[in-house]
Amino acid sequence: MRITFIVLSATAMLFTAFVISNKGRVGLIDAKKIEVRGIYGSPEPFWKKNLRLNELGVNAIFMHDASINESIMKRARAEGLKVFAEFATLNGKQYVVDHPEAWAIDKNGNKVEAATWFMGVCPTEPGFKKHRRDQLKTLLRKYDLDGVWMDYLHWHAQFEDPEPILPETCFCSHCINDFQSTTQIKVPDGSTREKAAWILNNHENKWRDWRCSVIAGWVRDFKKIVNEERPGALLGVYHCPWDDDEFNGARRKNLGLDYDSLKAIVDVFSPMVYHGRMRRSPEWVKKNIEWFSNRLKIKEGTFPKVWPIVQSYNDPEIIAAAEFEKVLRYGASAQATGVMMFTSNSVAEDDQKIETMKRVYTGWMKAK
Ligand SMILES: [Zn+2]
Repeated sequence: MRITFIVLSATAMLFTAFVISNKGRVGLIDAKKIEVRGIYGSPEPFWKKNLRLNELGVNAIFMHDASINESIMKRARAEGLKVFAEFATLNGKQYVVDHPEAWAIDKNGNKVEAATWFMGVCPTEPGFKKHRRDQLKTLLRKYDLDGVWMDYLHWHAQFEDPEPILPETCFCSHCINDFQSTTQIKVPDGSTREKAAWILNNHENKWRDWRCSVIAGWVRDFKKIVNEERPGALLGVYHCPWDDDEFNGARRKNLGLDYDSLKAIVDVFSPMVYHGRMRRSPEWVKKNIEWFSNRLKIKEGTFPKVWPIVQSYNDPEIIAAAEFEKVLRYGASAQATGVMMFTSNSVAEDDQKIETMKRVYTGWMKAK
């Protein structure tokens, strides 16, 4: 289900400039229509307080696929909400315990250790690929969703913690074979450790390109399944927000996220601009979304779209309501046309944050 846009007019831009220069307000977008005013997480904490989400200005919920049920779907529809499922794609601690053949292998030939709470499954292992595809089909057949958001879409690593963990993976036989057949490069016989060293010493760029193509392949597969099972539903991605240079280019180099190939496939990008977790300022959210919009040449009214997810969750520090307002508005800056927050519960448990979200979201509803 695609959503119509109102294009920011020149008049509106002038009005926006006036607001900023004369009132020093945080918002850049009071004159811009934000098509998706979302929450991430279950809507139930709001409902338990006898609040209706549409009366708070919310028009979309994004929640973990396993937490969706018929009664949530029914009430969400009654409140006019779109429902998007977050789909954990390459994270699978229990999966690798149950299916050791899909355990990612590091450059020393060892099974990788969990990267704090993340355990990346090998993305080329055929059984795992089939398992996730079947899960997605079952989900789409069960619920009339407006879209699916791929989460944990990256090679084994940890980017959500302040200190990232960026190992070199995966050198399992499936990956090395796939790399060889895709690139026509013959990796000399030897131990896994020797093969990994040879690849990184002799064909590092080809190796990293191939890793990006594996991730893009997952997105392409998912897009096809979504189109087949629920034509018109959107395919979104939650992703690391680092720019091209941060951590020595690790977003592409280690995580395998190549914006240039993904932008032709993904309907909506949701950069995870968790300023608190990443120990950055609220203003960084604005800078990042501006950078991202320019980098991908995002244009309102076309795909791909940008609907960032900002932080409200109190970790590691308290995010006060005023700071939450800043990041919510900054999240919707530049070419973004939607926004949501991590998490719904962190807003629902704090009356000031509920009021803040309501004021910002209903303000956007009135924008012409
Ligand atoms: Zn592998």
